[in-house]
Amino acid sequence: MKKKICVILFCLLVFLASAAAVKTEAKASTTITVNQEMAHIRSGPGLDYGIAGQAGLNDTFNVLDEKNGWYQIQLSAGKSGWIAGWLVEKNRSGNAADTNSESISAAIVAVSQLNVRESPSLSSATIASTSYGTRLQIVDTKRGWYQVRLADGTLGWVAGYYVEQEQQAQKEAKGDQVMLLQDQTNLRSSPSLSASVLATGDAGETYPVLKQSGDWYEIQINGGTHAYVASWLVQKSTAAGRANQKKPGIKGKTIVLDPGHGGEDHGTTGYSGTLEKVITLKTVDALYGKLKKAGARVILTRRDDSYVSLPQRVEISNTNRADAFVSIHFDSSQEVYISGHTTYYFHRRGLSLANIIDKQLSNSIRTHDRGVKFGDYHVIRENKQPAILLELGYLSNPQEEQMMLSKAFQRKAVAGIYNGLQEYFQ
Ligand SMILES: [Zn+2]
Repeated sequence: MKKKICVILFCLLVFLASAAAVKTEAKASTTITVNQEMAHIRSGPGLDYGIAGQAGLNDTFNVLDEKNGWYQIQLSAGKSGWIAGWLVEKNRSGNAADTNSESISAAIVAVSQLNVRESPSLSSATIASTSYGTRLQIVDTKRGWYQVRLADGTLGWVAGYYVEQEQQAQKEAKGDQVMLLQDQTNLRSSPSLSASVLATGDAGETYPVLKQSGDWYEIQINGGTHAYVASWLVQKSTAAGRANQKKPGIKGKTIVLDPGHGGEDHGTTGYSGTLEKVITLKTVDALYGKLKKAGARVILTRRDDSYVSLPQRVEISNTNRADAFVSIHFDSSQEVYISGHTTYYFHRRGLSLANIIDKQLSNSIRTHDRGVKFGDYHVIRENKQPAILLELGYLSNPQEEQMMLSKAFQRKAVAGIYNGLQEYFQ
């Protein structure tokens, strides 16, 4: 009897711990999107507070806090502000666990005999008894108990730790998955290169992710066996990401635009003094408008001349699960005659984005195409999303600098990147 109580307590603890984990995770990735043409950002949660800025239709922000129907939002450079809840739409995070907790519909009795009680407590009266394998429809949940509807329509309560949620099997398909990138990938018994190989898999095969431990994913292979695969051998996808990917077109895609440098970091200085940080923001501003018109969810890593660290830029991409991350830069060389544009990628997941954008950019701006290259840059290396870095031309080249400052070049560069993104999401 004592042992049973211990088991119950342990299960309850596990249940509570996982419930708490779900809550924190969901909060960390909550965003809101402005659904008005113009909305004021205020210094506090109320109309009495001063106006600290403004936001436009479809602007999306990370939520830091919530108070009296107002959201505290993350602005650039570590600044924050408040926006009224009635001016925005809250975006559900793509968190798999979070969605699952909402979609529980049935429970299967996991013990030989289970009492259904009048209220959610072990001391409450038993109103019915069910047996192993019975499917119960869940109506409500409270403190680890499920309110269920019995076959005759009666409502009662069962302890959550005596049943299994029916969506368990579907949960894997709904949750995170990894896809193998190479043939003959080793699936091992523990997260180490010296661990024994349980099985091998080929490129394109997908497996549900159970857990991530360090650089390894614990995955489920055939027959429910658990195995480990190195994270650098796979591409991970979330349920939300896959749902988006399935829908073709740029509409609804999350695109993070990263204007290089800003604030005290000027980037390179052109032959006749053009600051890279100024021209990157100019290009991104124009691209932003075009993408938003096409219905994309566009997020900027900075909107003004402020300093944003490289890790912060990457975090914006990762927490928003960007479908594409595009960093905009302009190049420099000691040799003034060097010219042309270059497209950099780091991970293989960014390669097709790089190829397509480079091609479209070349078609549009018609300067020397230096090609698609591997580049070890922080914002694309640390990025978990498809990410590229564009060097649109050489500010150190006097002719190219003048040309790049022209409206015509800006328009063509923006069109090239835009066409590339359109083609990528086709
Ligand atoms: Zn740069």
